[in-house]
Amino acid sequence: MESKQHSPDTHSRVVKKFLSEKEWCEHQCDECGNTFFAKLSVKIDISICGWYKCDKGDRPFLTFSKRKKLLKPSQISAKMSEYFRSAGFESAIPRNIANTHGQTDLVIAGVQMFDDIIHRNQPLRNDKVFVTQPCVRMQFQSQVESQEGISTSFVNVCTEQMGASFDEHLQSVDHWSTVLSKLGLHMNDFIIVMRTSKKDWGTGEFSALELFFCYGGLELGDAAYLHITQSNRPTIPISDIGFGLERITWAINKTESYFDMLMPWTTICTREMFDACRTIALLNLCGVQAANKGPGLQFRRFAKVLGEKYYGTDLFEVLPYYFDYWAQFVTPSIKRENAVMLARLEIERFVNLKICNELNLPPPRDETTDEYLDRLVYTYNASIYKLRKVIQLCKM
Ligand SMILES: [Zn+2]
Repeated sequence: MESKQHSPDTHSRVVKKFLSEKEWCEHQCDECGNTFFAKLSVKIDISICGWYKCDKGDRPFLTFSKRKKLLKPSQISAKMSEYFRSAGFESAIPRNIANTHGQTDLVIAGVQMFDDIIHRNQPLRNDKVFVTQPCVRMQFQSQVESQEGISTSFVNVCTEQMGASFDEHLQSVDHWSTVLSKLGLHMNDFIIVMRTSKKDWGTGEFSALELFFCYGGLELGDAAYLHITQSNRPTIPISDIGFGLERITWAINKTESYFDMLMPWTTICTREMFDACRTIALLNLCGVQAANKGPGLQFRRFAKVLGEKYYGTDLFEVLPYYFDYWAQFVTPSIKRENAVMLARLEIERFVNLKICNELNLPPPRDETTDEYLDRLVYTYNASIYKLRKVIQLCKM
């Protein structure tokens, strides 16, 4: 049972008071019916809330005035980390992407730092932390190519506080407003959408009060106040505020495409290819290996896309680029060369299978395409010309 002072209704009243004191005005969205807030001096259209479910795919923020110099994601996260340290938050070490204790195979949000506590009855914590947590969300895979601003992997920059009172949660919300403003994302250009929702993380249903931060039509993150149900102890309050670092980077730099800052300069290819390389590199760096279930299955799915559709591109130059990207946020559990080789073996496994099927040749082993062809030519006397023709086909 939720006590009265913990009810979402009470909290939403407190939020309204808190925001109105900071000159946020309350509105109602005609599309979704949610309450949203905009500054008195708001500069953008507020006829709808601008949350991703209601926006029309416009990106008004791209027309806002631009910075003189672009900022890299790592520079932005360093500035945030510095700000939150000065505000009394400890820096937490991000988790390995392969999630062994929670409900999902891969880490999808920073709040999973509490999985051991929530799911394995470990002692409660009460510190305030800032964490830059690399995450993978597979549900976006099909939209990467068709929509801007989407990637299957991203860095969740977040503050987490277990045991937070609702006032402490709002203090953290205030810190986020300050740090975003300091980075040049002014609150005049934001809409905050408020929603209460029912959630269940496997320990029982609970309600959450969420505030979504949308910057000129782009959702950057959300601030959730949760009361996680536990079977043998009182509910655990958590202030969970997380933003997408790459989205913030796009909002700050206002480059034409979200991927402009997220790909090597000299490779020309589709977003699907860059996204698959990015995510494989992250899985790889965290020690995930190809498998038929769990985290390894996701690795395999991306490798299949790359092997079957993008073998002709600079895959094995792009992979180290992304390895270095993730290594800025999480300590690699494998050397770069080994990581690239493991990805290569899995990607080329699909290439090898295609060669094998096309020419009806002996099956490939766990080997690179070069090694496989070597074996076919020198052991099985396969025709070099036929092999080259199939390779050409694989690279189209
Ligand atoms: Zn709406």
